Amino acid sequence: MITSIVVPCYREADGLPALYARLAAMSETVDTDMEFVFVDDGSTDDTPTVLRKLAESDPRVKYLALSRNFGKEAAMLAGLRAARGDAVVIMDADLQHPPELVPRLLDEHLAGADQVVARRDRSNDSPLRRTLSRLYFRAVNSVVDVRLVDGEGDFRLLSRRALDALLSLTEYNRFSKGLFAWIGFPVAVVPFRSGEREHGRSSWSLESLVNYGVDGILSFNSKPLRSAIHAGVLLVVASIAYLVWQIVNAVTVGVDTPGYLTSIAAIIGLGGAQMILLGIIGEYVGRIFLETKRRPHFIVMESNVDRSRLPR
Ligand code: UDP
Ligand code: MG
Repeated sequence: MITSIVVPCYREADGLPALYARLAAMSETVDTDMEFVFVDDGSTDDTPTVLRKLAESDPRVKYLALSRNFGKEAAMLAGLRAARGDAVVIMDADLQHPPELVPRLLDEHLAGADQVVARRDRSNDSPLRRTLSRLYFRAVNSVVDVRLVDGEGDFRLLSRRALDALLSLTEYNRFSKGLFAWIGFPVAVVPFRSGEREHGRSSWSLESLVNYGVDGILSFNSKPLRSAIHAGVLLVVASIAYLVWQIVNAVTVGVDTPGYLTSIAAIIGLGGAQMILLGIIGEYVGRIFLETKRRPHFIVMESNVDRSRLPR
């Protein structure tokens, strides 16, 4: 049996030697052969050089260098496509995902689970961060069809058949948390405590987090469009009722107040509502546009893996 460890790396040169050392030490403690698939996601630091060196010193190290920064989802996909293992473990390069947990993930896999999720214990986080993530998950879960769980991220093991199922989903806008839940299969959970990032800094800005949240909602169903219809129906009913009342009033007691402000408020309110709805529709249309182009998710610039084995 071969187990592949897939690690997307963006500007991780400082942390990689330590990560590799811990991975190598961990690989001594398990019964399976290992392959380490590092994907350099267009880093501007020494990451490619470090990976090249690691690959020279250890034949188990495979690396792919993407031609630019395609984002973590694409880097992960590149690694998963290149992985040849019977089981695959995805983890971050910043040592927030302890390599020492891999044997426990493998145990659960051998006991029958196709997906073994490492669930992050939030007790180390600041209260603010914990509250924010709880709110985020509650909001997302109220609109998406697949259930997302707080603390469950990309750190997980997939069996070959679960991985093949995941790779059969070829959508351009990838929201992995949702895709993992969508494919199903028996799931086991292993809790872990995550540390702080050891080197460099997180590449998530507030803006990218917000975009990620929007992705999570829009890529899994069309409920925002449905609620737009509901809101529209509500507005139309309310305004017809108001009109009828005004007409009845005018006929019975006559017009006493000019309706300028009412008109202005109605125009601004409805105009705004329509713009929001157009925006929502635009988001979906934009996604359709991106999907129909059928562009590759990433471009591999350099690799020590056979060209024939490389994903397109
Ligand atoms: N990453 C990547 N491409 C990017 C951003 C991040 O491959 O454009 C990798 C990064 O090197 C790390 C993982 O994705 O291995 C998680 O990134 P980060 O630690 O910045 O995110 P956080 O842990 O804050 O969610
Ligand atoms: Mg991190």
